[in-house]
Amino acid sequence: LMTRLDTDLSKDELKDLAITFNQMMDRIQVYVERQKQFASDVSHELRTPLAIIQGYADMLERWGKDNPQILEESISSIAEETANMNTLLEKLLFLSRSDKHTLKVDINTIDLSALCNDILRETSFIDDAHQLISKVSPNVMLKGDSALIKELIRILVDNALKYTPEGGSITLGCATTNQNIVLSVKDTGIGIPKEHIHKLFERFYRVDEARNKNTGGTGLGLAIAHEIAETHQAKIFVNSDIDEGTEFVIFFPHE
Ligand code: ADP
Repeated sequence: LMTRLDTDLSKDELKDLAITFNQMMDRIQVYVERQKQFASDVSHELRTPLAIIQGYADMLERWGKDNPQILEESISSIAEETANMNTLLEKLLFLSRSDKHTLKVDINTIDLSALCNDILRETSFIDDAHQLISKVSPNVMLKGDSALIKELIRILVDNALKYTPEGGSITLGCATTNQNIVLSVKDTGIGIPKEHIHKLFERFYRVDEARNKNTGGTGLGLAIAHEIAETHQAKIFVNSDIDEGTEFVIFFPHE
C-alpha cells in the first residue's frame, strides 16, 4: 500500500511539474516573440527617416548647388528627420535601461502639486488650441524621481493635446486620498475603442495608423509612461469613451 501511495503521489507531482514547465515555456515563447516583434518594429521605425534623409541627400547632390530652394528644403528636412531619429533613439535607450534595471532613479520627496502647476504653465505657453483646467490639490507630496514623474505627466498631457480636437479641454489633477496619491489627466478628445485599451502600453502600439497619421507619434510614449509608473510601484488605469474623451488615472502608494 505504501509503495502505491508513493507512486500515486509522485505521479501527481510529475503532472504538476509538467504543467508548470509547459506554462514556463509558453511564457518564454511569448517573450521571444515579443522581442522579435520589437526588433522588427525598431528597424522599421529607423528605416523611414533614413530613407528620407537618403532621398534629400541625393537631391542635394544632383541639384542642390544650382537651386537655392532645393538646398534650403533638403537641409531643413534632413535636420528635422535627424532630430526625429534622435528622439526615437532616446526613447529606445530609456526602455532598454529600464529593461536592464540600469535606469538611474533618484528618489526624493517631491511636491507633485508644484510639478503639475509647472506643466500646466509650460503647456499654456505652447498650446492655445485647448482649454487647460487645473484640479491640482495643494501640497500633494510624493516619494519619487522628479524628472521621471515630470516625463510621465508630460507624456499623458502631450497625448491629451494630440488626440483632442481644437476647442476641447484637458484637465490635470492630483490629490492625496487615504489609500493613494492620485494623478489624473483627462481630455475631451477622440477616445480609445475598448478593444484597444489592454494593448495601449505595448511598445510601438498605436490604435489606428490612419487615425493617428497627423500626430506623428511612435507608439512608445505610453510604454515609457508604464515603465515609469512601475518604477514607482504605481498602477495606471484608463477610462475612455469614443468621441467623449479619455482619462488616465495613476495611483501611487503612500510611502
Ligand atoms: P503615440 O506616440 O502614438 O502617441 P503612445 O504610446 O503615447 O504613442 O500612445 C499609443 C496610442 O494610444 C496612440 O497612438 C493613440 O492611438 C492612443 N492614445 C494615447 N493617448 C490617447 C488619448 N488621450 N486619447 C486618444 N487616444 C490616445
